[in-house]
Amino acid sequence: MQETMTLKNKRIIIYIVILIFLLWGIKGIWWSGTSDAKSVSLISETTLRQENLISSLKTEVARLQLQLTKCPHGGQDDVSNLPIIYAITPTHKRPVQKAELTRLSHTLMLVPNLRWIIVEDSETKTDVVAKLLAKSGMQFIHLNAATPKEWKLRAKEPRWNKPRGVIQRNAALQWIRDNVDPGTDGVIYFVDDDNSYSLEVFDEMRNVKGVGVWPVGLVGGLLVERPKVNMLGKVEGWLTVWSPQRPFAIDMAGFAVNLKRFFQQSDWKFAYEVEKGYQESIFLQHFVNSLDELEVKAENCTKVYVWHTRTEAVNLNQEDVLRKKGKPPSNVGIEV
Ligand code: UDP
Ligand code: MN
Repeated sequence: MQETMTLKNKRIIIYIVILIFLLWGIKGIWWSGTSDAKSVSLISETTLRQENLISSLKTEVARLQLQLTKCPHGGQDDVSNLPIIYAITPTHKRPVQKAELTRLSHTLMLVPNLRWIIVEDSETKTDVVAKLLAKSGMQFIHLNAATPKEWKLRAKEPRWNKPRGVIQRNAALQWIRDNVDPGTDGVIYFVDDDNSYSLEVFDEMRNVKGVGVWPVGLVGGLLVERPKVNMLGKVEGWLTVWSPQRPFAIDMAGFAVNLKRFFQQSDWKFAYEVEKGYQESIFLQHFVNSLDELEVKAENCTKVYVWHTRTEAVNLNQEDVLRKKGKPPSNVGIEV
């Protein structure tokens, strides 16, 4: 009898011990499970952040190395010895202006030895542009020239109805005539404020001796418009669909002119009364005698380094709702 009791007791004790162990184990797993998950997610977040930082630094190093290899003598020369790029940008006030100029300035500030001539289409220079330029740390020339009323596009008028940027580009060219030594080594390039530029396009144009040409993406109703290059590497026509008979069927973003070449025709000006699509042709006819004189860039005109992008007109209909309710606009005290 006593023996069976002790046997029973022993069994009970063993069960209790097993139960305690089981409970202990479950508790351990539960506690450590949640805290481990927390620390694992913390560690993985920090590692992810560090990995992102490392990979963006690696990209930056690669980019700088690439630029360095493109510099004469492996980048040992001072960049101030590079030919100067005079980038001419007409710009006009609209809701997206600051966004466009911010995007553009963040490209142009990566280009060595560039002077940004920015010409506002306005009676006076605006604070928005002045502050943006000052903040960029770039070498800039800030001008203004208002489009005559009769040449200003009216609301809802299609933009191809009137030439844009005419008087502004002339003001910039005049500034160059008045302020740049004609012997300066450099080029002139027209940079609209809404296009998209790869840094490579600036490398291509920098050493142009007369007029250099290259493809432009997303223009003229095509994915790409480009000069037609023959077996000898010379331009013999234009791969465009719209108005290919133009002497130079190329967008403003598709060429740069050497400064010395420019100074040979120093009185030249853009005009308003020009057939649609002929601004570029009329300009280039003054600086080039024949197509085969053009310098073919961007790997025989097979690479696209600039895109004629256009920003959609922004929808501000809720500002009207605010106005109708007698409320102030959303940007009171905020520059957008
Ligand atoms: N522009 C300007 N005043 C205007 C319209 C345009 O100064 O009334 C500028 C514009 O900011 C841009 C350039 O002229 O830098 C070309 O204009 P847009 O981009 O509208 O022309 P498109 O894309 O049709 O060539
Ligand atoms: Mn444009």
